[in-house]
Amino acid sequence: MSAEERQLRLPVDHHVHTPLCGHAEGAPRAYVGAADGLAGIGFSDHLPYLEPAKADPALAMSWDELPVYLDGIQRLKGKSATPVLLGIEADYFPGQETRLEAVLAALPLDYVCGAIHWVGDWPFDDSRHLRRYEGADVTALYRDYYRLVAEMARAGLFDLWAHPDLPKKFGYLPEETVRDAEDEALAAVAAARMVLEVNTSGLRKPVGEIYPSLELLRRARALRIPITFGSDAHAPYEVGHEFERAVAQAKEAGYRTYVTFLRRERITVPLP
Ligand code: ZN
Ligand code: FE
Ligand code: FE
Ligand code: ZN
Repeated sequence: MSAEERQLRLPVDHHVHTPLCGHAEGAPRAYVGAADGLAGIGFSDHLPYLEPAKADPALAMSWDELPVYLDGIQRLKGKSATPVLLGIEADYFPGQETRLEAVLAALPLDYVCGAIHWVGDWPFDDSRHLRRYEGADVTALYRDYYRLVAEMARAGLFDLWAHPDLPKKFGYLPEETVRDAEDEALAAVAAARMVLEVNTSGLRKPVGEIYPSLELLRRARALRIPITFGSDAHAPYEVGHEFERAVAQAKEAGYRTYVTFLRRERITVPLP
């Protein structure tokens, strides 16, 4: 696909899963087929957890499956008119930086999505643990979350910050402002030269909003943090979900370009 052709299309969808993670459906080939009108598709399935205690076949692929994932996606590259990228969604946990760095350095990735799905021992975006919200200090959850994001950025191992305000997923909002914690996270992301993901999966969740909110996106723009796009598709029909709306929100926040990746180098593309 030529650069001209790429910039006329809806953005590359950088956040797509495969059945290897245990909670997605559809063959990778079917996801690529569903990306027809997009400038490209990037797979970013869940990296196995480094901590054996967190290993759960319903959350991420196993270490044995990782080569299957990498080979499978690499074989899809060049097989369709739609460009295919190979990424990974890696959780950040404090203290695992050295091991994670060694793991990631050995993989032939186009980009690494950094994600926080756990605050302490709470997998707060896992619907199987929804009951933990009852009586929980939701404001503290948001603060802890953004503190971890800042730490994740400082680790310097990730290309993009996936689903930026994920704690809002089930509609539980902080009771008081957490703006200082958000700003600390944004500043760390800007300093680390990380990219922020505009992720449409929140539209399919109880909160019914894109991650991040327009307000957070405006502040990211003020800090000159670049953006990328992702649907977080866990089925082929979700590929590129609501991308027109995501592009409109990005433009409303002042963005004119987005970023895609190749072998962990950035390529800036004008928004369609
Ligand atoms: Zn997932
Ligand atoms: Fe995620
Ligand atoms: Fe994901
Ligand atoms: Zn995700």
